[in-house]
This record gives sequence, structure tokens and C-alpha cells, in this order.
Amino acid sequence: MVKQINSRGKVQAMSGRLIDPYGREISYLRLSVTERCNLSCIYCSANPLECAKKMGKDLLTVESCLAIGQAAVELGMTKIRLTGGEPLMRADILDIISGLSAIPGLKDLSLTTNGIFLDDMASELASAGLHRVNISLDSLEEANFQRITNGGKLQSVLKGIEKSIEAGLTPVKINVVLLKGINDHEIERFIAMTADRDLCVRFIEYMPMKKEEGWRKLFLPLEKVIEVAEKFAPLVAAESDHNHGGGPARYFRLEGAKGKIGLITALSCHFCDRCNRLRVTSDGKVKPCLFSIDEVDLRPFLDSKEKLKEQFIAALELRTDPRTVSDNPFGRMEEVKGARSMRQIGG
Ligand code: SAM
Repeated sequence: MVKQINSRGKVQAMSGRLIDPYGREISYLRLSVTERCNLSCIYCSANPLECAKKMGKDLLTVESCLAIGQAAVELGMTKIRLTGGEPLMRADILDIISGLSAIPGLKDLSLTTNGIFLDDMASELASAGLHRVNISLDSLEEANFQRITNGGKLQSVLKGIEKSIEAGLTPVKINVVLLKGINDHEIERFIAMTADRDLCVRFIEYMPMKKEEGWRKLFLPLEKVIEVAEKFAPLVAAESDHNHGGGPARYFRLEGAKGKIGLITALSCHFCDRCNRLRVTSDGKVKPCLFSIDEVDLRPFLDSKEKLKEQFIAALELRTDPRTVSDNPFGRMEEVKGARSMRQIGG
């Protein structure tokens, strides 16, 4: 159901706080530093044959990433997450991290990765100034992992998780995109990971992008996770993510467990009214909202921090009124037209 549009305010950027026209504070930037990826996950690219190695060269230089980061922090964003594609594919990722980590006012610098390179890189990432990592892991079965990622090695990711914990890139969060008929039989094993370790396993609802055919067959609402978890032990609400700038996940804990379970119900129960983030694509476009086709280009303005800030504000002017977002996930997804694949946007 589409709700009535009500009043619309102005973007406010004052005293280190950035407020969008609907009163939401924007504190978080997701910066996609590359669209290249060493994996080709079945849900991430509209066309699974869109091979990572065919992708073009990275369009945002280290200096561009730093200029964008500085403008964002000066406007009031205090948290930056590097994403992609696979951010660890970039040979200069440590330069990006050390440059960003030196920006005064940046409180949280994190990175989302498929984890394949973490075994080798976790400690140098931490030394460069990275605070923590989110690691995508959609299966705990070798063959299923290979199928979902088009050839990835599960053992590398598992080693990478251990190395990240050792390097202090914590709290380590594991992201699991739930796919009906593909990994939903593994919910129990993922939940079991939280029983005696301080790990946070977050289930994410599959979001189709770019008119993916047959997406309804893969979509599974996350109530299924609660159903499975409650067979283990009673679920208790756990503290949310406010230390790290808030976020869309709702957290639970199996009674007595060390770790947490997070649910990101992007479709079945959207959280647009709490959205605190902007995204910059790997080719330097600000996306006002994940599913919006509007984009504001930063690349012509990389030499002027003030102009970059103006572009961020222009993007915020294009934010969608959360009250107009349909509560019906299927209806909403059918309306998404011509969007980019997740690997360009960064998830
Ligand atoms: N290569 C990194 C990785 O694998 O985590 C970062 C890029 S990936 C696009 C960022 C996040 O987006 C991952 O957690 C991934 O699971 C999520 N993602 C990608 N496509 C998605 C989709 N169609 N629905 C839901 N989440 C998706």
C-alpha cells in the first residue's frame, strides 16, 4: 500500500550533523571502491556470467576515495564502510584505509569482504587503521559454497574469520544472504556458530536487483530463521548496533549464547524510516536510496571538497519519503527498474 506523502523538510548540514528532508540523521557512508570481484555470487550480479575479470579498471583513485571520505565526514558522517565488488582486490586498499583512518572525526572504519584474502591480509588491514570487518559467508558446506560463489573456497573464508578475530578486527560480523532452496537448510548450523563464540551472524533477505528473472523463487522471509532458532533455545532480544552507528539489523541471542543473531529484513519489513546511510557507487555516483534510480555524480567535483559536499546534499534532496515506500515487498521489487547490480553499489 502506498501511503500519503506528507510534509518535506530541507536538508540540514549544521554543527556536524546531517539531516535529510524527512528528519533522518545521515551518519554512515558506504563507499564501493571497485566493481571487480574474485567471486561471482549467484545473487549479487544480475547476470551470473558477468565475469568479474571482464570488469573495467577502478574509477575511484586513492585520492578520490579520500576526498569523498573527507567531504562526508565534514558533513557529519562518522562511519565509513568500504565495499565493492571485493574491496580487497584493490592493490592500493591499504593506502585507502590508512588515508581514511587519519580523517579527524571518523569514528568507525569498516570493510565488507568475501573473506577469501583475509587469511593473508587481516593483520595488515588492522595495522593500516581498519576497525572491523563484515564477512559474507552463505554456506558452511564446501560444495554449496562453491555453487553459490561460483568457485570460492570455503576453507579460505573460515581461516580468514579466525585471522580477523586474532587481528582484532572485531566485532566480526558474518553476513548470510538467505536463499530459498539453496542455503535455508543450513540456518541451524549458522545459528549454532553463535552458541559458544562471540560472533555475530546476520541473516539478510535476498534483494533482487536489475530485474532479475525468477527472483521470487529465491526469496525467503527471515521469520524462518526465528522459527529454526526457537527450536534450539528461547530467543532473547540483544543490544543493537548503536556503538557502530546504528543499523537496520534486529539482534537476538539464544538464551545463554555468547554470540548474536541479526536479522536484516530488507524486504519483508523494510526499515526506510530508520535509514541513516548514503552509498557511493564504484564509479563515483551517490545513490540517495538503495533502490532509487536517481544518482548524483561526484567525479567531476573531486578537486573541490566544498563541491563534493554540495553534491552529497543534492543527493539527500532526492531521498525517498519513507512513508511512500510500499509495505508489500513483491510490489516494491516489481517497481525497481534499471537499477545496478549489487557489486557496483556495494550492497
Ligand atoms: N565482496 C564483498 C562481499 O562479498 O561481502 C562486498 C560486496 S557485497 C555486494 C556486499 C554485501 O551485499 C554482502 O554482504 C552481500 O551478501 C550483500 N548482497 C549482495 N547481493 C545481494 C542481494 N541480492 N541481496 C541481499 N544482499 C546482497
